[in-house]
Amino acid sequence: MFDYLIVGAGFAGSVLAERLATRSNKKVLIIDKRNHIAGNAYDHYNEEGILVHKYGPHIFHTNSKDVFEYLSNFTDWRPYEHRVLASVDGQLVPMPINLDTINRLYGLSLNSFEVEQFFESVAEQVPVIKTSEDVVVSKVGRELYEKFFKNYTRKQWGMDPSELDKSVTSRVPTRTNRDDRYFTDTYQAMPLHGYTRMFERMLDHPNISIMLNTDYHDVVDFIPFKEMIFTGPVDEYFDFKFGKLPYRSLEFKHETLNVEQQLAAPVVNYPNDNLYTRITEFKALTGQKHPKTALVYEYPKAEGDPYYPVPRLENADLYNKYKKLADETPNVHFVGRLATYKYYNMDQVVAQALTLYKKLTDKPIEKAATTPPITGSASIMEKILPRTPAKE
Ligand code: FAD
Ligand code: UDP
Repeated sequence: MFDYLIVGAGFAGSVLAERLATRSNKKVLIIDKRNHIAGNAYDHYNEEGILVHKYGPHIFHTNSKDVFEYLSNFTDWRPYEHRVLASVDGQLVPMPINLDTINRLYGLSLNSFEVEQFFESVAEQVPVIKTSEDVVVSKVGRELYEKFFKNYTRKQWGMDPSELDKSVTSRVPTRTNRDDRYFTDTYQAMPLHGYTRMFERMLDHPNISIMLNTDYHDVVDFIPFKEMIFTGPVDEYFDFKFGKLPYRSLEFKHETLNVEQQLAAPVVNYPNDNLYTRITEFKALTGQKHPKTALVYEYPKAEGDPYYPVPRLENADLYNKYKKLADETPNVHFVGRLATYKYYNMDQVVAQALTLYKKLTDKPIEKAATTPPITGSASIMEKILPRTPAKE
């Protein structure tokens, strides 16, 4: 009998497994349908020996001391401040838009004060900022919106920025100074030996069993557990009862080149040209030395693995129906980016999981209300791996 069955070995599931096992002495089984732990943060050495992120670039940044200190239990860090260039009008210019972006784009030599005046002169009046278009045109005007945001957003999300909640493009600030960092968080760093190594250390405990290549649907009736933590898509859990929640997907095209360095920045964004949104050069993120270099191109698509909840009002309404059902489901706890349908960064998911851990351990464990505890079938129990995280 497991105290907890945890579905999904990404940040949400792994943080909870670690806390429950080490702090509350709970017996935990964590399963994932993929052949590895670490969820979308999974990294591995490719065929040439270069550390790459299978599901696109993952850069850790947070303002939360608690989250940073918590993860520091499982990894050392490589200080890293992320920088991005955007390919616009045949030039590579800093993104987020800053003083240098404007000067280079228009061949000017404005100072901070003058660029602020420039933004004011081109900004559109928007009485109430609701959409992702409003956010940008009200700050930097229509021309810069069209050069940097309109088409990138249409590619990434398959819809116009005017159809997306303001929170999406609000992730990218506008600056009047020369700060060209993508993030300004207090803590910005990469796990020194990669994300997967960090997850292996989180899950390395006698109370934690791991079962990979295992879809929850196939085993839930055979595994004896008291409570469940679910980190997969919430609509899938409820058999799409109210209809499908839209998630945006991506196709990742990885390639290795026979040169030491290829890009002018760790990430180059393509707001207008090409079908992909951005290219990442992994060695720039990880600091690895290698005579070759590995890149990933991101091609957005509608179908495929669910990577991004799509923030817009009608989707929030649909999610709220599922949330009501989730709240009413005894002894099942929904957490993480897919299960709570939130466009969360890694640190936000860690914080959400730590909060759930506190909530769970503040109350005594109840007996399963819907289904009685099930005695596991021998065949399923034999498949449960004793702490053997994935190796590629
Ligand atoms: P996931 O990592 O998605 O884990 C959920 C797990 O559940 C998956 O492994 C899945 O296989 C498993 N699962 C689902 N359904 C089932 C089932 N039925 N049975 C068994 N297992 C199941 N965040 C940052 O902070 N910085 C970044 O730079 C950054 N870059 C990103 C780039 C991309 C392209 C993407 C897609 C995301 C990025 N993120 C970034 C966000 C980050 O990936 C997430 O915040 C984080 O990984 C979410 O963790 P999670 O545990 O909620 O979900
Ligand atoms: N965005 C854009 N142009 C860019 C970068 C971002 O239009 O050059 C918009 C786009 O809608 C994107 C959102 O801002 O989805 C958030 O960008 P972020 O880099 O945070 O996306 P993520 O890393 O989560 O994919």
